[in-house]
Amino acid sequence: MTTEFEANLHDVESPLKRFRTETLGHFINGTWVAGSSGETFINETPIDNSVIGTVASGSVEDIDCACLAAQAAFPEWSKMDGPKRREILHRVADAIEENAKEIALVESYDTGQAIRFMSKAAVRGAENFRFFANMAASARDGQALPAAQHINYSIRQPIGPVGVITPWNTPFMLSTWKIAPALAAGCTVVHKPAEWSPCTAALLAEIMHDAGLPEGVLNTVNGLGEIAGKALTEHAAIKAVAFVGESVTGSHIMRQGADTLKRVHFELGGKNPVIVFEDANLERALDAVVFMIYSLNGERCTSSSRLLIQETVRDEFLQKLQARVEKLKVGHPLDPATEIGPLIHPRHVEKVCSYFDIAKEQGARIAAGGQALAPLVEAGFCQNNGNFVAPTLFTDANNSMRIAQEEIFGPVLTAISFTDEADALAIANGVEYGLAGYVWTGDVGRSMRMARDLDVGMVWVNSENNRHLPAPFGGMKGSGIGRDGGDYSFEFYMETKNVCVAMDTHVLPKIGQPD
Ligand code: NAD
Repeated sequence: MTTEFEANLHDVESPLKRFRTETLGHFINGTWVAGSSGETFINETPIDNSVIGTVASGSVEDIDCACLAAQAAFPEWSKMDGPKRREILHRVADAIEENAKEIALVESYDTGQAIRFMSKAAVRGAENFRFFANMAASARDGQALPAAQHINYSIRQPIGPVGVITPWNTPFMLSTWKIAPALAAGCTVVHKPAEWSPCTAALLAEIMHDAGLPEGVLNTVNGLGEIAGKALTEHAAIKAVAFVGESVTGSHIMRQGADTLKRVHFELGGKNPVIVFEDANLERALDAVVFMIYSLNGERCTSSSRLLIQETVRDEFLQKLQARVEKLKVGHPLDPATEIGPLIHPRHVEKVCSYFDIAKEQGARIAAGGQALAPLVEAGFCQNNGNFVAPTLFTDANNSMRIAQEEIFGPVLTAISFTDEADALAIANGVEYGLAGYVWTGDVGRSMRMARDLDVGMVWVNSENNRHLPAPFGGMKGSGIGRDGGDYSFEFYMETKNVCVAMDTHVLPKIGQPD
């Protein structure tokens, strides 16, 4: 055990204490409240499935309270000068940075994500706030559209209180990616975090309050999707719902929001191809292929879960890939040496492992992994097993297999070979999803043809997923509706209003005149 690992185990206990000793309630109107129904659920750590604590299960009444608080806070927050809002959001970013270590440790403990990645995720949360804080003052800006005898100009105004519903993978980063632009636009927020990883949302609510965010501007209600989440999407005070999660849940939310005509923004699942051509820098491509499926436990929407490898270089590439997969370090998420931690929940392990039999039944080969693991029990570290799964590589697959079509959302890669550009494109586009695509080639023209023809919202050429906050982020087809990032986020959180002013020179139609 390294000293840094020991220090992490020690340091996580202090921020966890409150979750262990008190029932986690809801943060509404600037204060913690207990749930109105008294119902609770248990939150466990994926490390050994031991209990972290009890969480209030938000009811329809709790959601109502939070939405009314957001509605009451909206007039003042939305009318606050942009520079003042910017100042408050910068203070939030400062506070996140000051607490980044604590946030990262709690996030790792609650989600099973390796600390080496979570320490960056906490800092990225602060970056999200800083970036959108700087845009707060210009969020309302519109266009001047002069006509011959009228001046048209557009202005934007915040849409109103919004609902933000987030999933359990990297919850802190994802929450800030939604909440920061909403607040910068002038909206108030009701956040419903995922029930399997509620801890860092609670830290965020408190950090923001302490940094000076006025009461009711951010409200956090814990609870189950089908109760609290559903009530949020149906509430009349909520004008828009930003949702990150599974595609099927997106469909439910669209139905639930229909009666109140909710505007929706969906970031959903993916089955993203990484396409490696024979003329690529194969060494760099290999690094990216390994990183983009096995980092973050493969529990990442933009993970490249399908490797499309040109058959001329297939054998050599797959051999090297297999060797790298077998070397991945699976272990305790708070150990800085760990590359793959436990998956979020035993139910998720069951789902991921079910694909091992499916792969064999459908004729693919398991070249690496293909089983659950118990590294901490074997090392005598824990008595109870956590949710560990061996990093897995399927080869000899084709695109019609379920392992090529369905989002597994674990450290599992399906390799498929292709002959030429047209074949690669047909395989890449032959799924219901359309979030991201990664193209590796030394041919500039080919990279641009592929980027043009891939049915995905984001293409990375000769790169892993590289974040640039002003760039549009989002998916096509079953992977989502709408884009985040830069001004794209404001398009969602704001209404555009056109104002048309006459120069008093045009001829007005006269009707109803005396004979
Ligand atoms: P999920 O859809 O099960 O749950 C997400 C959230 O929705 C949770 O907070 C849940 O409580 C809530 N919810 C569930 N049912 C609801 C309902 N009927 N009404 C309102 N809310 C409801 O997703 P998950 O399993 O937590 O997360 C994993 C999924 O998220 C994967 O499919 C992954 O690809 C996707 N994801 C997408 C992106 C992206 O940017 N496209 C990013 C991260 C994760």
